[in-house]
This record gives sequence, C-alpha cells and structure tokens, in this order.
Amino acid sequence: MTIENRNGEAEEKKGLSFIELGVIGDLEQGKNGGRLQTRFPPEPNGYLHIGHAKAICLDFGLAAKYGGTCNLRFDDTNPVKEEVEYVDSIMEDIRWLGFQWANVYYASDYFPQLWDFAVRLIKEGKAYIDEQTSEEIARQKGTTTLPGIESPYRNRPWSESLTLFERMNTGEIPEGKMVLRAKIDMASPNMHFRDPIIYRVVNHPHHRTGTTWKAYPMYDFAHGESDYFEGVTHSWCTLEFVPHRPLYDFFIDWLKEGKDLDDNRPRQTEFNKLNLSYILLSKRNLLLLVKEGLVQGWDDPRMPTLCGFRRRGYSPESIRNFVDKIGYTTYDALNDFALLESAVREDLNTRATRVSGVVNPVKLVITNYPEGEEEGTEEILEAVNNPEDPSAGTHPIRFGRELWIEREDFMEDAPKKFFRLTPGREVRLKNAYIVKCTGCTKDADGNVTEIQCEYDPETKSGLPGANRPVKITIHWVSCKYGVPAEVRMYDRLWTTENPRDALADLQERTNCSTLEAMKQLMNPDSLRVLPNCYVEEYVTQLPPMSYLQFQRIGYFNIDKDSTPDKPVFNRTVGLRDTWGKLNQK
Ligand code: ATP
Ligand code: MG
Repeated sequence: MTIENRNGEAEEKKGLSFIELGVIGDLEQGKNGGRLQTRFPPEPNGYLHIGHAKAICLDFGLAAKYGGTCNLRFDDTNPVKEEVEYVDSIMEDIRWLGFQWANVYYASDYFPQLWDFAVRLIKEGKAYIDEQTSEEIARQKGTTTLPGIESPYRNRPWSESLTLFERMNTGEIPEGKMVLRAKIDMASPNMHFRDPIIYRVVNHPHHRTGTTWKAYPMYDFAHGESDYFEGVTHSWCTLEFVPHRPLYDFFIDWLKEGKDLDDNRPRQTEFNKLNLSYILLSKRNLLLLVKEGLVQGWDDPRMPTLCGFRRRGYSPESIRNFVDKIGYTTYDALNDFALLESAVREDLNTRATRVSGVVNPVKLVITNYPEGEEEGTEEILEAVNNPEDPSAGTHPIRFGRELWIEREDFMEDAPKKFFRLTPGREVRLKNAYIVKCTGCTKDADGNVTEIQCEYDPETKSGLPGANRPVKITIHWVSCKYGVPAEVRMYDRLWTTENPRDALADLQERTNCSTLEAMKQLMNPDSLRVLPNCYVEEYVTQLPPMSYLQFQRIGYFNIDKDSTPDKPVFNRTVGLRDTWGKLNQK
C-alpha cells in the first residue's frame, strides 16, 4: 500500500505490518500530541519465551524506529506466582535481545492510585462489594444469549461497600469471601461488562510491597489504568484481549472523568500470538516442565525460553530476524519451527568460527608420515575462521601422524558411490594432505579400531600438487593435541507438531494429568549426549558462548557446564534441515 508522508510524497510502505502502518498514521495525524509511547508488560511469573520476543520486538522496535519511548512494566498484580528471580531474568533477556527500556515501572507502583480510583467508584455508586462465592457469581453471569442476574449486594449503600473494601485490605477478610465488582451492566452482550470483579483478596506477600496490601486489582482494572498513568499511547497485546478492549476503554473513560478529551489516551491494538510447530509455549507449561524435572531448568537448551535459546547458541540477531520475517497479523497461525532454524543458520553462517570437532571418533594413522614429526608447531599451519567473512582471520592448527576422524567417514566394504575412506580410495584431509586408505584394524568383535592410510607430501593445501581432484574433504583432529569433549545433540522436545492441542486432546481422551500427557508426548531422543568427542585445541581458548561451526556437522556453542579439562558443546542446529525429511519417511 502507499501512504502520503508529511511532504506529500508518495512513499512505498510495502511489507510494513498493520501495527506499524497504524503508528505512521497516528504520528502523521498528530494524535497524542505526536507522541509514541509503548510498554512491554510481562508478568514476572516465569522466564520469557520466544513468543515474548515477538511482543518485545514490536514494543521496543517500533518505539525506537519512530523516535518514541518504550518502558518495561512488570504486571505484578498476582503475588502468588511472582518472584524477583523472574524480574531479573526478564531484564537480562530483553537486554540480550538488544533492546533497552527508557524506564522500569511496576503495576504495584500504582496500587495507591488504583485503590483511590476504586474508592472513588464506590463513592460514586459505580462499584460494590459482593459477598457471594465465586461459584455463585459465575452462575449469575448468564450466557452470550441470556442476560446475567444481578447480585443481591449490587445496590447496597456505598458506605457499607467502602467499609468492607477497607477491611478487604487489612487481612480481616479471608480470600474468596468478598470481591469488589464494577457496577456496569449484567445484560451487556459483552460478558466482560457483566459487573467484572476488579479487586480480590490475596493473602500472600508481594515480592515488592510485602504485606502492605491484601486487596489486589484484577488485570482488567490494572492494565489500562497503568497505561493511562504512564502516558502510553499505543498498547499492543495479543488477540485474546480483543474482547477486553471495550472494557479497557470504558475504565479509562471513568478514570479520565471527562477530562482531556483531545484524544490523548492509550489505545489497545491486538496482534497474533506466536505459535510454533513442535514448540510448547506458555509459562504455566514451561514452569511445570521445570518443576517436575522433565527438563534441566529454564535455560535447558531444549526450552523455547530466551535463556534456553541463548544457551543453545541462538544469536539474538537470528531471533529478531525470524520475528521480522513472520510479521504481525490479526489471525492465529502455526509458524514452522524450521523457519526459526533457518534464520539461525543464516545468521550463524556469517558469524560462527569454523573449527574441527569429531563427534564419533576413530583413529586414522598415516603410516608413511615420519614418526615423531608434526606440523603447526614450529611453522604455522592455519585454518580459515569464516569463509563468509575474511576479516574473521585464521587460527593455528596442528597436524600429525595420528588423527581422529569420524567413524562414518570410513567403510571397509563400500559401495561404488561411497566417496569417503575405503581401501584404495583417496580423500583430502581439510587444510592438510590427500591421503589414500590402505586398510584397517578390527577388534575381536569386528569393530574397526584403527584405519591406516598413506599421504602424498606433494598435495599439502596451498602447494601446486594440491589441485589433484578428489571427491571429498573430511575433517580431523590431531590425536596428540585434540581435547576430549562432551557434545550434546539436541532435538525437538515434542514429537507432535502442535503440542498445545495434542496435550489438551490427550488429557480429554484419557482423563490424565497435564504432566502425564507431557511425558507421553515428549521426544525421548530430545537430548543425546556424546561423551567421547574431540575438538581441536584452539576451541578451548575461546570464551564461553562463542558461536562455532563444527565443519560438516553443524553449529555449536560452548556450554556453561564446560571445565578446562572437558569442554561441553551444545548443538545449536544442524547445517541443513534434515528433520522434516526424516519425519516424512
Ligand atoms: P504465557 O501465555 O506464555 O504465560 P503471558 O501472555 O501470560 O504468556 P505475559 O507476561 O502476560 O505472558 O506477556 C507479556 C507480553 O507478551 C504480553 O503483551 C503478551 O501479550 C505477550 N506475549 C505472550 N505470549 C506471546 C506470544 N506467544 N506471542 C506474542 N506475544 C506474546
Ligand atoms: Mg499473562
């Protein structure tokens, strides 16, 4: 589509989301005095996941792009589930993604203002204390076609409600015994208007306000109001809040008391949640996985949390690029996980250091290479760090008579099309020589324990003889200098494309718990530990979290479990998408 900019020139805005076009339009019309202010409002009840990244990129990204501000606001109105640990992790993850908030706010900072607003509503006869149980209240709600029934407490004197409201906050009233409800319309076609509960009692200390409060505002009574107090202009959230939007506006109208009618107010706009194939989001579920020990913590590299992806070796850029690609719409969809993986590959291709790692080692002995001799110790032998990026330079490697190679690169009785090592066939050893396989040694069970070959000294990489054509180049690690390593090969955590629906379906059919259903739907091969790998020594000098490519194997990073004696690597993603193909078989 085409939009006129301030100078009247036609500007192509192709590819911009409807949200971004909305921002451009609002700024051009000078709405909100030309201000753009957004917020990212996580509830500190878990770690952020890839779905949140979609919201973060929007809230922070558009504010930055159009000269606005984005604040981080913790929506901390439910003390039972919220913890400081989550607050800290959320800040760390947003920074890691590459964003910075202007201010940090907490919905709990507004408890006094929200309390005053509620008191005002009580005094104006717009809110009342209901002493019915939550079941009774639910029963009276009516249906979309039937109006609700008014509570017997609906028209009690405001002074009575006020006294009880105060008692709700002193600890005298047990949880569930009383709630404050807004008096709106029990016959409204929008169920959210049928006298919504706006305050409830929670007898659990709050992570910031301690025991000061016992009465806590509900989401619908806190979110829009917080937006208003802060001066938010654009309040973006996910589609499940569409039916809440009229109430959002309604409460803000009450709050404004007719003031400020120049349209300077926050507006809610909804976009589609991120759903990814083979990924289960939602903090409630992720918390269950952690608490029940089905994964090894929030940052388990199989988790779709930002800290899990970080530990797995995903770069923040790849996540941002992915979010950019999928865009924002007004209908729910299931995005292909392969799309995220391809964004990761694309980004890591430009930044990962190429190294040698052998994950299934077998020894290769070059029988005509002089014993005791080695290369790369006296003179320099080098490997290119990244062929995509000459500025990444080179690193030293060492070559010798005995090398580790991949077991799969050898076959004793090979078919014609097997171009790797088999007696009589030549391959190139990366950055070194062409070798010809001469045979192998086996143990009593017939397992190959050593492969022998002869090298051609004229074929060293860089020498004129190096151009002799061979079908394949294989990687290797020096037996003398290579470092033993553990490699963790990760795969999808779920065997089913849509784990959320599959879980619900399984629970309904078999009447089992969420945990039981999870156990049945988890991929038993989501983690394969390879304890006896070798990596070239250079890798051990790199800082933790470095992005690596083990040539021919995949992208890896150095895990925090590494010790100087035994580095540990996580496979971030394979070099190609083989998963889809394997599963079609
Ligand atoms: P979950 O449902 O996973 O528990 P939530 O919505 O309860 O997440 P909040 O902390 O309330 O988590 O969310 C903070 C912001 O992130 C909200 O604006 C919410 O709409 C957005 N968000 C949460 N999940 C997704 C998702 N899958 N895709 C896009 N945005 C999301
Ligand atoms: Mg939530």
